[in-house]
Amino acid sequence: MRYFETHAHYNDEVYNEDLDEVLNKCREKGVDKFINVGYNKESSIKSIELSDKYSDFYAAIGVHPHDVENNTAQDIFDIYDEKDKKKIVAIGEIGFDYAFVKDNKDKQKKLFLEQIELANTLKLPILIHSRDASLDTYNTLKEKRAEYGTLFHCFQPSDDLVKLVLENGYFVAFGGNITFKRNATFKKYIDMIPLNQIVIETDSPYLCPEPYRGKRNDSSKLPLVCRKLAEYKDIEENEITKIVYENAFNFFKITP
Ligand SMILES: [Zn+2]
Ligand SMILES: [Zn+2]
Repeated sequence: MRYFETHAHYNDEVYNEDLDEVLNKCREKGVDKFINVGYNKESSIKSIELSDKYSDFYAAIGVHPHDVENNTAQDIFDIYDEKDKKKIVAIGEIGFDYAFVKDNKDKQKKLFLEQIELANTLKLPILIHSRDASLDTYNTLKEKRAEYGTLFHCFQPSDDLVKLVLENGYFVAFGGNITFKRNATFKKYIDMIPLNQIVIETDSPYLCPEPYRGKRNDSSKLPLVCRKLAEYKDIEENEITKIVYENAFNFFKITP
């Protein structure tokens, strides 16, 4: 089987010592495309560098809400402007995160809106990070539409976000989070979302799936995500693996 990793951070320093070894292990498992995702200025530049280095890598660039005090949408525009753009395929990850900081909601919103605007200017899709912030995510996307595609990474389904996904044909990515016991409630939502709107990710180095939870993650764990999805959707694992693989090419407008 072949796998398309739609969200990983191989720009993270935890891979400094053995990145080639890790990636070769993933490739042996059948992973043949990687979207490496930036979360601030520095990591976005690194994303582009990785996509220059590896033919199977593509870059997403953006400022995560955690970095709202440090970087701006203009920083991301400048990177785009200065670098070779061929392999920049999305603006991300961008959005809201209220898990740790809630007192800068307005700033997070402003940064998110500016980056949606930037994505529209550059004709790129957006990769959304939304944690404990489904209502504000919902309202912001109602206010400003990303014209070239919307993907919820590490999707945390809720009634309102699923409604939005269904109404607008947005894409969702599931990762190791669906294998965690406490997320068994996801099944009812996963049942509602059409197969052609679903892709897979690992969010490496985070969110390692069961039974490896807590370990450093990498894209060789993608089959575990497919297995759980197949179980929830009650479809053959091979079948779902093939479908989510093709969906990722559609979303990122990459030709196989
Ligand atoms: Zn994220
Ligand atoms: Zn991420």
